[in-house]
Amino acid sequence: MSMDWSRKWFETFKGVVREGVDLAPFSHMRVGGKAEVLLEPWSEEDAATAVRICREHGLPLLFLGGGSNLLVADEGVSAFVLHVGRWNRVVRDENRLIASAGASLPSLLRKARESGLGGLETLVGIPAQVGGAVHMNAGTRFGSTFDHLASVRIVDPEGGIRDLRTSDLEPSYRDGGLGDSLVTTATFVLEEESKETIRERFTEFLEWRNRRQPVTEKSLGCIFKNPDGESAGALIDRAGLKGERVGGIEVSTKHANFFVNKGGGTAAEVVRLIEKVRERVCKEFSIELELEIELWGFEGGRG
Ligand SMILES: Cc1cc2nc3c(=O)[nH]c(=O)nc-3n(C[C@H](O)[C@H](O)[C@H](O)COP(=O)(O)OP(=O)(O)OC[C@H]3O[C@@H](n4cnc5c(N)ncnc54)[C@H](O)[C@@H]3O)c2cc1C
Repeated sequence: MSMDWSRKWFETFKGVVREGVDLAPFSHMRVGGKAEVLLEPWSEEDAATAVRICREHGLPLLFLGGGSNLLVADEGVSAFVLHVGRWNRVVRDENRLIASAGASLPSLLRKARESGLGGLETLVGIPAQVGGAVHMNAGTRFGSTFDHLASVRIVDPEGGIRDLRTSDLEPSYRDGGLGDSLVTTATFVLEEESKETIRERFTEFLEWRNRRQPVTEKSLGCIFKNPDGESAGALIDRAGLKGERVGGIEVSTKHANFFVNKGGGTAAEVVRLIEKVRERVCKEFSIELELEIELWGFEGGRG
């Protein structure tokens, strides 16, 4: 890892520029290596400045959210990684909630519940940031992030700040359709409801999740996308792979599409387990599992 760049290029950028930052603490699975440079912009304009500088100098730029769906190589990632975790405001305006990209989804849901605004309950238990949830169109079979999303503000790949209506976008399964843009703000339109009704739905969806997923363990959520008409977890389970292990990483015994770090696991072990699972599922069912998680710093991945 060593990129050719100069701090001078970032003179107009307001925010933090840190070199060689360990990304494992940002990862929900607590694995992975360093980012060549971590950028933490103060404001949206500063994020746009960072995008323009990186573009001008041909520096690879990646966006890090809650680290709950991406895997960074143990050797690190040769890229500038932009993180907006400090932007964590959620503001109510009548039946709308306006959330900064770095706000956690749990804090958005808490605000909705306290405000008596319903609709987001299906997302309870997803440990994302708002920006990551919008980028991925995170959700479950009961509902997705875009269901109540009215508009988003982005920094586009050229460094322009733009407001987009959701009706102008084409979200699909685990893809908000925003490409390489940075999400800075998301506005959700919700229904006014009794707090009690919302609380009941929260509990219902949380119990559903707790029964099915290893929520207290260090994971990256679903490793693979569900193939058409199939459940990746069910295929892995039927291939007899629950509890399969490489080093410190295990196929969860609770939900086979989750890999959990049982302690001391590495990103390389996650990848070896992915290969093992893919091979076995392909052999048993002739189905190629496609990754849901994103890889940074690996061949064929980003950065
Ligand atoms: C216990 C657990 C349960 C989960 N359950 C679910 C579930 O039910 N449904 C589901 O869909 N997912 C689930 N996930 C996966 C994960 O939470 C989602 O994919 C989520 O959308 C990732 O958001 P993040 O902020 O953590 O993004 P990261 O993991 O940090 O990044 C994921 C992608 O989003 C991009 N990104 C992040 N922030 C921004 C931004 N501000 N602007 C543009 N792009 C950005 C990144 O560049 C990357 O491409 C679960 C994960 C865990 C650990």
